[in-house]
Amino acid sequence: MNKLAVVTGAGKGIGREIALSFAREGYSIAACSRTKKDLLKLEKEVKKMSCRIFTDVCDIGEVDSVLTFLNGVSKFNKYIDVLVNNAAFAYIGSVEETDLGTWEQMLKTNLTGTFLMSKYSLKYMKKRSHIFNIGSNASKIGFPNWSAYCASKFGVLGFTNSLREELRPRGIKVTAILPGPTKTPLWKALPGSWNRSKMMDPKSVAGMILHIAKQPADVQTEEVFIIPDSGGL
Ligand code: NAP
Repeated sequence: MNKLAVVTGAGKGIGREIALSFAREGYSIAACSRTKKDLLKLEKEVKKMSCRIFTDVCDIGEVDSVLTFLNGVSKFNKYIDVLVNNAAFAYIGSVEETDLGTWEQMLKTNLTGTFLMSKYSLKYMKKRSHIFNIGSNASKIGFPNWSAYCASKFGVLGFTNSLREELRPRGIKVTAILPGPTKTPLWKALPGSWNRSKMMDPKSVAGMILHIAKQPADVQTEEVFIIPDSGGL
């Protein structure tokens, strides 16, 4: 198999599990995040499975960084079969305490990053390629003090729904994955105490994405709302 899965934010959490799941399935992997040591760790694990992997540091919110990463990806593999737009960060704060810089950074990474990576990957895609955009439960539900994150994730869902219709004639599938609370390092950076026992394992989200990627060509799963059986936090 010479299929390639590109995963953003693959250094930690859900993205790392997605990269490992596709590697186990025999895909070649192209992965990015901003932290080199996380990528080197991932590289080591993927190579142990005798899979090909290309990694590079990339900030998905910066156009030059995205273009450099994708240029490297195109030299590694001719086509992109799967793109998982996973990288994002979370922030909690009331509207009054959210400064403009934080708001803009949130939209730049979570929303513009998804746009840039999709826009510049498309020339390497062909019929049956598949884009997965990771939104959140916060793509559909407004949570108090999560307004910047919710705005970015509602935006990701709107972008995804429009992109799907645009790419339908080209036979490229587009799926929105909307997870609920998942046990990843994302929560460590957030104020408050979070009950990790009520969260999903990131492997479950990765497994769902792999399952959808393997569906027959005549099926399109448009959206998956996946939450812990506890119901969430
Ligand atoms: P995480 O554990 O914090 O990992 C995020 C990854 O993205 C890291 O590897 C991080 O590495 C990378 N990243 C962050 N900003 C980046 C940027 N500007 N450019 C490139 N890479 C960047 O997060 P996670 O929980 O796995 O979340 C993954 C996705 O699931 C996100 O879209 C998140 O919004 C969504 N989600 C998570 C949950 C949850 O409960 N965990 C729930 C719903 C949705 P660097 O910082 O080194 O770049």
